Formats: sequence, C-alpha cells, structure tokens
Amino acid sequence: MNNSSPNVYRNYYRLRTANQWRKVQAESGEPGAIRPYLAGNWKMNMTPRSGLALAARLFDICKGIKDVDIGLGPPFTGLSTLAEYIKPDFLKAEYDIGRNVFLLAQDVFFESKGAFTGEISAEMLAAIGVDRVIIGHSDRRANLGKYFGFGSSVARRLSNDFLTQSLSRLKQKDDADSKAIMALEHLLAKENEDVLAGLASFLGGELRDRAGESDEAINRKVLAALEQGLQVIFCCGENREARENNETFKLLERQIRMGLEGVPQRLIHDVVIAYEPLWAIGVGAKPATHEQISEVHDFIRNLIMDLHGEQFAASIRILYGGNVKPDNIADIMTIAGVDGALVGGASLKATDFGQIVRFGLID
Ligand code: PEP
Repeated sequence: MNNSSPNVYRNYYRLRTANQWRKVQAESGEPGAIRPYLAGNWKMNMTPRSGLALAARLFDICKGIKDVDIGLGPPFTGLSTLAEYIKPDFLKAEYDIGRNVFLLAQDVFFESKGAFTGEISAEMLAAIGVDRVIIGHSDRRANLGKYFGFGSSVARRLSNDFLTQSLSRLKQKDDADSKAIMALEHLLAKENEDVLAGLASFLGGELRDRAGESDEAINRKVLAALEQGLQVIFCCGENREARENNETFKLLERQIRMGLEGVPQRLIHDVVIAYEPLWAIGVGAKPATHEQISEVHDFIRNLIMDLHGEQFAASIRILYGGNVKPDNIADIMTIAGVDGALVGGASLKATDFGQIVRFGLID
C-alpha cells in the first residue's frame, strides 16, 4: 500500500473525463503509472566536491525511495564527478535507490563540434553519463542577457558615427544591399536625428533587459539533445509583464510550439516540460498559487493533446518550478496536471530537497 497522505499520490494514472484531467492513485511500479520527477537545478553553485557531499546527504535522507525520479543538475564542472557517484550500481548497493536518480546538465549547444569556445555539445554530455538536459531555462532565455551587454552594443551601433562609417563601407561594395543603403541614409538625415537617438535608447533597453536565447536556438538545442539520446527538461514560462497583460497563454503557446517544433514522434516521449513563471522564481518571490498552476498546466496539457494526441498528453510529465519548498510541494502535487517540480534554491539544501522528494510520505 501507499504510505502517503490522503489525496497526495506518489504514483498515479491520469485520465480525462468531462474535459478535465484528473489523477487516479496507483501503486508504485504498476504498469503505466506516472512517476513524479523531482529535479534540482543547482545553477552556478557547488564545486565537484561540495556537490558530491550534497548528493551523499540527500541519498541518506532518501534511502529506499524508488517511486519517484530524482534529477540532480550540477554545473558542467560537477557532472563527471557526480556521474561516477550516482551511476546505478553504486547507488543500488549503498542506498537501495539508483535507477531512479538521473544526472542533469543545465544547458547544451546544438552544434556537435567546432569553433564554439565555451560551449558543450550533446555528444560530450552523453559521453560522460548525463541523462537529461535542462533547455530554455528563464535564466538563459531572459535573465542572463543583461550581463552580456547586447543592449549597449546595439546602442553603439545605432550611433551617428558608427552608421556613417558603415554607410561608406557599404557603398564601396559591389553587391551592396540598396535597401540597407536607403535605410541608413534615411536614419542619418539631419531631420531624423531624434528618431535615431530614440531607437538607440529603446532597442538598447529592450536588449539589455530581454536578450537571451531565442525560441529558434532553444528548438535547435532540443533537437540536438534528443537525437543524441539525451532526455530533455524543456522550460517555458511567462514574465510578470506578460501575466499582467493577459498574454500568458499566447506566450506559452509560442514557446512550446516553436521550442518543440519538429520533434519526431519517436523522441517526444523523452521530453518533460517545466512550467516556470519568471515572477515566481528565486529569493523573495512568491510561488504561483494553486489555481494559477492548475490553470496553466491544464492549458499546456491541452496544447500537447492538440499536437500529439490524448494518450500522450495524459502521460507527459509537466513539472512546476518557482519557489517549490518542503512546505508547499505536497499541495502542489495534489494538482491534477502537475507531475513534479524543477527546484532551484531548495535543491541546494539536502534536508529541503530530501523533504521535497519525500512529499506526502508519512514518516
Ligand atoms: C529555477 O530557477 O528554476 C527555480 C525554480 O528556482 P527557485 O526554486 O529557487 O524559485
């Protein structure tokens, strides 16, 4: 029997009746039963040594747990060390868990090799035992852009000096684009001085705040990872502005349609989706409410149903992320559309993440 609190199912089937998704409790190991996925994204934290210590403490707390999947996502530098530690034979012997512990990378590049300084390919990750890769995290889609200086670099290119030099270089080319020449001449005209300054300021600000990975780049990463045999945690989520402007569903639909475009049917089963509203992530933010999570997860699942059919939509795991903690995970897991969590801050503390993994269990 399940040793869990009423209404908090550790394993379940998902059914759709009267246009609504619901969970029906299952025993662990029953064929086709869904296993929740609790994934820790350590972000840029932990050395290989401290990561190993964290994992060891976590496995002590989670000894004997076999009914959920656990993902550990160290930075690239910690992957190999952790891979040696968590591969099944070791853990099975030590902790009676293991086949359900997976190694996560936090990103991947879509090209397989070449002059891409600082990037890591799917092949490289697979070769060291990585099981799954997080793709499209909001840190990469949006937040990190402000550190890369795209905004100031665009503002500089929209200066009078830069455009004047570019125009004269362009005019010397035999195959110069006449439309580009016209546009530059127009922008540089004395009467358009203010337009140019306004454009530089607007685009500079936009790119400073928002420039990050595009849906197209994310899609290429998803395809590269899946083709290499890696599983994917595909992140999506709206920022505060989109939520306040009632654009959440439109934005999520774009992210999901574009991000998962062209994934062949044979590989779609290797995708887990994580819904992570940006405004709910990180220190000081409040998690989304039960109702907000429920509404969005139903929306995503219905979209997946349109794209890949009802049977697959019932089984795909859709995680929630955004201030998941030991004290809210059980409630979040009662939501019919939620199959686990992508956890940031709380995954850095073995006791907190351990309690999240043990959600709903009566000790
Ligand atoms: C995250 O960054 O993916 C995340 C969910 O962080 P936190 O749990 O700290 O809100």
